[in-house]
This record gives sequence, structure tokens and C-alpha cells, in this order.
Amino acid sequence: MKTPFFFAATTLFFLASSFTPPGTDPKGAQSKDPAKTPNKMAPNTDFQYQTDQFADLRILRYQVPGFSELTLKQKEMVYDLCEAALCGRDIHWDQNYKYNLTVRKTLENIIGTYKGDKTTEDYKKFLVYAKRVFFSSGIHHHYSSDKMFPECSIGYFSDLIKNSDPSGFPIHNGESTTSFTTRISPIIYDPTIAPKKVNLDSKSDLVKTSAVNFYEGVTQEEVQTFYEGMTDKNSKTPVMTGLNSKVIKENGKLVEKKWMVGGMYSPAIEKMVYWMEKASALAENPEQKDALEKLIKFYKTGDLKDFDEYNIAWVKDINSTIDVVNGFIEVYNDPLGYKGSFESTVSIKDMEASKRIKTIGDNAQWFEDNSPLKPEHKKKNVTGITAKVITVAVESGDAAPATPIGINLPNNEWIREKHGSKSVNLGNIVDSYDHASGGGVIDEFYYNDEIRNRVKKCAPYADKLHTDMHEVIGHASGQINPGVGQPATTLKNYASTLEEGRADLVALYYLMDQKMIDIGVMESLDYGKAAYDEYITKGLMVQLSRLKPGKNLEEAHMRNRQFIAAWVYEKGKKENVIEKKIRDGKTYFVINDYGKLRVLFGDLLREIQRIKSEGDYQAGHDLVENYGVKVDPVLHKEVLARYEKLHIAPYMGFIQAELTPVMEGTKIKDIKVEYPMDFVEQMMYYGKKYALLPVEN
Ligand code: ZN
Repeated sequence: MKTPFFFAATTLFFLASSFTPPGTDPKGAQSKDPAKTPNKMAPNTDFQYQTDQFADLRILRYQVPGFSELTLKQKEMVYDLCEAALCGRDIHWDQNYKYNLTVRKTLENIIGTYKGDKTTEDYKKFLVYAKRVFFSSGIHHHYSSDKMFPECSIGYFSDLIKNSDPSGFPIHNGESTTSFTTRISPIIYDPTIAPKKVNLDSKSDLVKTSAVNFYEGVTQEEVQTFYEGMTDKNSKTPVMTGLNSKVIKENGKLVEKKWMVGGMYSPAIEKMVYWMEKASALAENPEQKDALEKLIKFYKTGDLKDFDEYNIAWVKDINSTIDVVNGFIEVYNDPLGYKGSFESTVSIKDMEASKRIKTIGDNAQWFEDNSPLKPEHKKKNVTGITAKVITVAVESGDAAPATPIGINLPNNEWIREKHGSKSVNLGNIVDSYDHASGGGVIDEFYYNDEIRNRVKKCAPYADKLHTDMHEVIGHASGQINPGVGQPATTLKNYASTLEEGRADLVALYYLMDQKMIDIGVMESLDYGKAAYDEYITKGLMVQLSRLKPGKNLEEAHMRNRQFIAAWVYEKGKKENVIEKKIRDGKTYFVINDYGKLRVLFGDLLREIQRIKSEGDYQAGHDLVENYGVKVDPVLHKEVLARYEKLHIAPYMGFIQAELTPVMEGTKIKDIKVEYPMDFVEQMMYYGKKYALLPVEN
């Protein structure tokens, strides 16, 4: 399972993340020479996070802090795993649609060899289309799954082909450029051909109406019968049937073309195996080596039992610095939910974030003892919950350029129950999102420069602390009275929003506590102030930008943020703790007294803990319904209008870091990491270097 960015985008700063040192400038000033970005433990503060915006997309970059701290052997291993990841890139393109590689090679050849004028409006329109296709790994939108169309005419597109190097196009044997143009044009322009990548409208045959290349010449019913016959319903350890193959008809019978060495996608998989074998020789410990060897075995046998064996071994590999997800993983792209899309994420453990989390966890009992909870609701023996943060080195396939921010694997349910799972936050990715989202929103919605500058300077790090405190201390804190049932039973549909609110309040309460400075995880109370400014402004205003006009809040996290912000706003009214100000027709919420606000957060925390401890459904219901659901339509309209003016494209994806060996003779002396600036350049480079599959598999 993956956590997409969508939910997180409602919050911008409330995200889980990795370590950024205090003082990081979220604006990401222009980097003079990104290739010379110094690679050290902390991310470079001069880093440019966003490089491009077109259609509904933004292109971001991320850094890989901590890479230079690795040993040469570890660096080499990361490099090998990244190569393996990228060798699988073509698989995902082909899985998304049978003619995606044909289209991609056509676009690449035009970009690379077109002799005409590249400054015209038409060419710019063509390039936007090409970038959208690169972003989505195919001709369908990565999120909506609808077919995308170029805004330049079909006639102009033919001209582009005519004026490019004919030898670079994926032309069939004996085909002329003209007939190639006739063949490719409808694939790109005809709205009736492959209109939808994944069709989930159950009124039609989902297999026939979905463009994904998982089935060919078969109906939905045939596929379902085929797999029902294959599934052992009594097995306590069922494999994920159908995960690694395409289903076709041969001599009237359904057969699987397996994705494996010697099977479908063999040229790409052989290369992946080559790099994984190199990586496995460099493994940090026996558990890691075991997992990699089992993955290699799976790619060679195509046996899903071997895939399960691999996953069990992978779950046990918990002490390594380097980790990798590689395989046919998520099944969202198959309307029937059998087929796994190829993806790979290569990562290194975020040591700084892990240290910070440990420090906080070590003080769990102090936080519990000193919290504003009623004594009878405090835990006598509290241990912090473990959370893990990773730093992405490279992502590929279904995980790139658009990426999840959280990954929880494996997906096979019985393995999760029996052997556990690994759950990680992609720290440096979240960090990039934070920085890229910030500037415009902050300038628009915060009252004055003092507040804005503090939020820009302190909020990215304060958010990480907030997340750590929320996860490690917040959810672990408090106890339920004897005889009172679990919140799911007592508080019912309000349980999750109240629980998220409770954890948030623990974090907020301590972000203004000297203790955080004393244990060395926070530099000054400015971080707490910035966190308060954000929480109030976002909870009362900014998050409304994600809500359609006329709607009320439904999502649990949005509700908890509003009820907290609205409750403290109301309770503090008499003393003017938070003041609503209107300037030039724009609304702002300004905190006048941070100390008193902290007391109010503490009061609400004590009350929510009481509700949970006593199972007081009515009080929980009233709190959420009175403060967390309804939206002021006038303020909502204002927020939508102000947000719209900022022109922030909703979807984001990443340029990958590039690892290059530094050679000394025939020996690798070092691996250097660089952060390219140009999305198209990287796509062209990948298209050339990792073109491992023939078109039209
Ligand atoms: Zn939570």
C-alpha cells in the first residue's frame, strides 16, 4: 500500500518528514550551479526545489542528504540497486499501454532531431504534451487515467515527424515514414482509441475498456473464471494470484505470459537481475543478502511462492542502512486488481531523523508525567512508538516521477499478519513538497513579515517535530478507564478524528515547551510559535482551498484541524488570544498570546483525553459537529479565490537524483550524487540509457 500525496496536500506543512536543520530557507533560493551542490549530511539550504510547471503538473527535485556518509561499499550497493530500478523503467511504460513505448520513442526522436523552429507556439504545445506523457509514463493522465491530447494540430505533428531523423522512429520493417505517421497519429489523437487507462465503471467490460496492457483478446468474465479456477480458497498462505503476468488467448485458451527471465520483459528483467546480483555481493548483512537473493530467484522462476518467500525475508531485513522496494507491487492499475505494476524505490535510512525520534521516544515518560491530562488518564508506563524515515536515492516505474510519500509493504495479507510489514515515510520527498509548496501560500495567508519570515524559517523543521511528537508520543499517550471499551466502539464514527486531534494536541502542547530545547531537538521557541501560526491559519483558512464550494468537511484529518483551531479561537475570544483581522478585504487570524494559546491547547487535550478515557460519545459528537464540520461559506469563497490566484498546479513529480561512479583506472573510487535541473533532459537520457524493451510487447 502507498500513501499518496493527495491527502498530505491539504496540509502542506503537517507532514511526516526527515531532518532539516533549523534555519533552512523554505523558499529554495536559486542555486547557482546545481551540479556543484555540496553533498553533506544536511540538505543544502540553497537548493532549488521546483524547476518547472506545465498543464496541471509541477516538477520538483529532492536531495539525498546522508549519501556521502555511506561507506564506498554501501554507495556502490545503492548505485547497483538504482541501476536495477531504472532497468525496469520500460516495463512500467509497456504495462500502462501497449503502444506507450512506440509513442515515447516517437516523442524522443522529435525532441532529439527535429530540424524546424523550436521557438514557435506549436512546438511549445508539442513539448508540453511530451512532458505530460513523460510524467505519466504513457499517454494517460497518471491520476485521472484519462487519455491526454496534444494541443498542437495533427497536421503540425506530421510536420514534426517529416522534419526529424527518420531512422530514429520505431518504424516497422518495410514501413514508410508516411505510413508510420498514419499509424501513430490515431494512437495519439483519436479520442475513441484507448480513452481510459483504468476503467472502473462496472457497467462495461472492465478488461476491454481499460487500456492497460495486462490482458489482450480476452473478456473480463474469461479472466475472472480463469483466476477463480486457479485460486486455492482453503490455503492459509495464498499467493497473489496473477500478479506477474499478462493474460492472452492461445488456441482458444487463456494463458499467462509471465514477466520473468526468459519470459515477457526478459531483456529488462535480465539487466535488473544483473545489477541485483552485484548489489547482493555487497550486502550489509545476511538478512539483506537473503532478501535480495530471494528476489533474484523470483525473477528467474516467476513463481509467486518465491515472491512470498522474498517478502518474508524482506520484512526481516530491519537493520540495514540501505533498503529497496523492487517488483510488481501495487495493483491499482489493474481494474480487476490482479496485476502488479513494476516499481522500485531505493533508499537509505535517515540517521538524523532516527536519532531525533529516539531522543523523543526516550523521554516519553517525562512527556506523559508533565502533560495536562487528568492524573487518572495518564499512563504509568509509557513507551514511544517507533517510526521510521527513509531518504530516497532513486525511484522508478510506478513510483516515478509521481511518488507516494509513505509506503507500507508487503501487500499479501497473510504475510502482514504472520511476519509483519515495513512502514516508512519518504523523508526527503516530503521535505521537497514542503519547500515547494510554501512561499506563495505563506505570503498570501499570513498577516505580516514577522510571522511570514518565522513560518518560512521555522515551519519545515517544526513540522517534522510535530509529526514525531504526534506519532511517537501523541498516539502512545493516555489510558482508557477500566471497563470502558475501545474508542471505535464508544466514540464510533468520531473515533478517528478525535484520536488524530488528540495526537496533534500533544504535539502542539510540547512544541512550546522548554523541554524540547533542553533535550536538544529544538533550537528555540520560535519553532513552536511558527507551528502555532501554521496550525491556526491552516486549520481555519488554508485547508479550505481543497474543499469544493458548498461542501462541508468530511475527511478526518481536515475535521480535526478545524475543530482544534476553531475551539481555541472561540475559547480565547474574551482575552483576544487569536484575533481575526481584515485588511484590504482579506481575512487573517493572528495570534496575540502564544502562552495563553498553549494553555488552551492543553485544556482541549485534557478534555479529548477525558472523552476517550470515559467513552463520552455525546461530548465527542458535539465537539466535532460544532467545531469541525461546518464551513463559513463567505470565508470559504474568499480562500478559494485567494488560492486560485497563486496558480499552484495540483500534481507534483520528481527529477531523480543521478549517481555516477568516479573511476580510478578500472576501480570505483567514489560514487557522486548530482541533482539535475532539466526534466526533459533526464527523460531523454533515461530513454536512451534504459531502452531495454522492444516496442509493442
Ligand atoms: Zn496520527
